[in-house]
Amino acid sequence: MSFLSKKEIYSLLQKYSVRPDKKRGQSFLTNRYVAKKIVDAAKISDSDIVLEIGGGLGILSEWLAKYAQKLFIIEIETGLVQALKDLFEHQNHVAIIEGDALEVDFPRINKVVANLPYSISSEITFRILKKIDFEVAILMYQKEFADRLVAKPGSRKYSRLTIDFQYYAHAEKIMDVPSNAFYPEPAVTSTVVKITKREEKMFVKSEDVFFKLVHGIYPYPKKQLGNALKIWLERLDLNSDLSRLILKNTAGIEGNERLREIPQESLIRISNTIADLIQEGRMPNL
Ligand code: SAM
Repeated sequence: MSFLSKKEIYSLLQKYSVRPDKKRGQSFLTNRYVAKKIVDAAKISDSDIVLEIGGGLGILSEWLAKYAQKLFIIEIETGLVQALKDLFEHQNHVAIIEGDALEVDFPRINKVVANLPYSISSEITFRILKKIDFEVAILMYQKEFADRLVAKPGSRKYSRLTIDFQYYAHAEKIMDVPSNAFYPEPAVTSTVVKITKREEKMFVKSEDVFFKLVHGIYPYPKKQLGNALKIWLERLDLNSDLSRLILKNTAGIEGNERLREIPQESLIRISNTIADLIQEGRMPNL
């Protein structure tokens, strides 16, 4: 059978006393073909140890369990944990972890596959990036969020999230999934994204300065760099003239560039200038 009908989902939810909660992103995929396409993108073999976040009623988990050597599923909702335990009762290579994916210790795995609860997209993505040494992650997000992960300089979607994310990883879109592939139907389209960690290490003198700079200037994405630097310095109670010193000491940067157009490498060079100025005592600590 290729579809879990809405009626079937409804009766499973009733059986396990689960009332779908938007805050927990509880929209369940109803189409097993879509689930298989998501799982296929991870190219899982019997040597892979896979983590799924938010197993729900197990539509992705069933495919993952079929191919992986070992599958860990984290699920927060007690009723859904029971549903997953029943589904995988006779499959010892599937381990279900009841808990909050933002808090539990992650097991050692090499692939991640998940239809994420959208309310925690950002937090869970950065937690995965920082805590797990994975080869590939296939994750489904709200389309608007996915667009920002893959954005390039010059795009309207190029934002602070883009820069933070692309510091750690690369993302490419796999496919869009319409809202009618879920029950209950979310209000938005979803997008599946393939994430791999950056292999080349970027030369950042101080990560702290880099992220402070990005978080300090990207609230003003339409502004020119020089103006955004001034506003940020003023908000830190620092002399806004320091912006000229920063620009003068960063080769190839004029100050009239729009923030949305500045590639990450240039932002790194600006942050390295700031780190040098601080170290030389020509600028106060941030
Ligand atoms: N994988 C299923 C599917 O594709 O139909 C369910 C996906 S649904 C979008 C998100 C799932 O994540 C729900 O089962 C929800 O209970 C679970 N969830 C929500 N917040 C969570 C959290 N903080 N930690 C772990 N699971 C969570």
